Amino acid sequence: MKNLPNIKILDESDKRLHQKSEEVTFPLDKETIKTIYDCLDYLEMSQDEEMAEKYDLRAGMGLSFCQIGIMKRIFVVSEDFGDRTFGRYIVINPKVISHSEELIYVGEGEGCLSVNRPTEGIVPRYARMRIKAYDENGCEYEIRVREDISVAFQHELDHLDGILFTDKIDKKNPFKDRNKMREI
Ligand code: ZN
Repeated sequence: MKNLPNIKILDESDKRLHQKSEEVTFPLDKETIKTIYDCLDYLEMSQDEEMAEKYDLRAGMGLSFCQIGIMKRIFVVSEDFGDRTFGRYIVINPKVISHSEELIYVGEGEGCLSVNRPTEGIVPRYARMRIKAYDENGCEYEIRVREDISVAFQHELDHLDGILFTDKIDKKNPFKDRNKMREI
C-alpha cells in the first residue's frame, strides 16, 4: 500500500485561501506534476476508510493548489467508484464554457479540507457545466460534469479565485431559496 503523500493542507485562516491564483504556463516542471499526483493519491486515501482511520484523514474529493500554498490555477477531483477504484480529474487553467439553468445543492452541506469547523447552510451550484481546461501534459480538453462532480468542480473553481464555500452561504438566512433548487 502507498505511503501518505507529504501534503500540508492550509486552514481557512491562512490568507492564501482568500487570494486569486495565477494562470499556469506549460510545460509544467516535474515537481508540479508530482504534486498533482500526490494530491490525487491523498484524496483517494482520504476516501478509503482504513487509510483515513490510520492517518486520521478527513474524506475529501477535491483539492486546489492554493490549499497547499501554491498559487497556481490547478485543482484535482477524485471520484469514488467504489471497490477502491477512482476517477481522476486534473484541471489546469479552467474556463467555464456553459452551465445549466438548474441549480442544485448538497443536502448534507458542502465540506472543505481547509474548513475545520461545523458549518450550516446551502451553497447554490449549477447542476451541469461544460468546462475547458488543460491536463498535466499541456493538452487542452473539454469536459461535461454533472451532479456531485459539477458541485466539486464549482467548489474548486471558487478556490482558484480565493472564494470558500462558506462565503456563498447567506449569513442571515443559511437555507435561503432552498425550494428553488434541487437537493442532491
Ligand atoms: Zn475546498
